[in-house]
Amino acid sequence: MPISEWFQKKEKYTQITPGAKKRSVPDGIWSKCAECGEIIYQRELLKNLRVCPTCDFHYKLTVGDRLNLLLDDGKFKEFNASLSSTDPLNFVSEKSYFDSLAQSKEKTNLVEAVITAKGKINGRSIIIAVMDFRFIGGSMGSVVGEKVTCAVEKATEDKLPLIIISSSGGARMQEGMFSLMQMAKTSAAIGRFKKTNLPYISVLTNPTMGGVTASFASLGDVIIAELGALIGFAGPRVLEKTIKQKLPKGFQTAEFMLDYGQVDLIVHRKELKATISKLLDFFVGEKQ
Ligand SMILES: [Zn+2]
Repeated sequence: MPISEWFQKKEKYTQITPGAKKRSVPDGIWSKCAECGEIIYQRELLKNLRVCPTCDFHYKLTVGDRLNLLLDDGKFKEFNASLSSTDPLNFVSEKSYFDSLAQSKEKTNLVEAVITAKGKINGRSIIIAVMDFRFIGGSMGSVVGEKVTCAVEKATEDKLPLIIISSSGGARMQEGMFSLMQMAKTSAAIGRFKKTNLPYISVLTNPTMGGVTASFASLGDVIIAELGALIGFAGPRVLEKTIKQKLPKGFQTAEFMLDYGQVDLIVHRKELKATISKLLDFFVGEKQ
């Protein structure tokens, strides 16, 4: 699926302000669920970790919300915070990559599509990388790849468990080969991390696609998918055109991936921290 299609789809995932098409509701107080159409009190949606109380649709979380949700007191020490992409190919398609970067920075207050940090989960130190889909579709360019690799290397050096929360349309095509190389680089770093015998828990959130699925996101010792997440490599339309066959129902959903052994667990967002904590206890041993 071309990366531009992810932006067309963005509305569906991120629209939590009222659709206001049929029922008129005051701005910012009520939201209309993009999935079931139910009107939700905005504050209730936030309290419910951006999960629709009616249909359980998991809206995307910002990297800040995600770190708050998972880390003790939401506290973390960030690495490589100022590392920012350049435009090595002077790439221009519908708009220039340079402009895309500038707009994403302004919109998200981030400098890249991933934050890497050290933090604690229920008192246990871990290294974590969290992607943010709002930043050019969470795509992996050279800086995302470098930051993820450095986080994996930090976990290897400090002998700490590794957690990566993916949310990505795939490789960042605006960086061409520089972007594709990150698949090998991140995977090799994880290969070295595995020699420590410490756990790498990979969490796939909606959506995890392309070069991210095809590299570090699929290399977890345990692969967790958030409820309802779309997971795959190429998008369904591209696949149907390529193989000239209709795809099975539910194709590329977390549930489908669980049935076919691509993920180990599907976890509701409310249970995510507790599940990760339990897995760490299991793999590393109870905290002293
Ligand atoms: Zn809903």
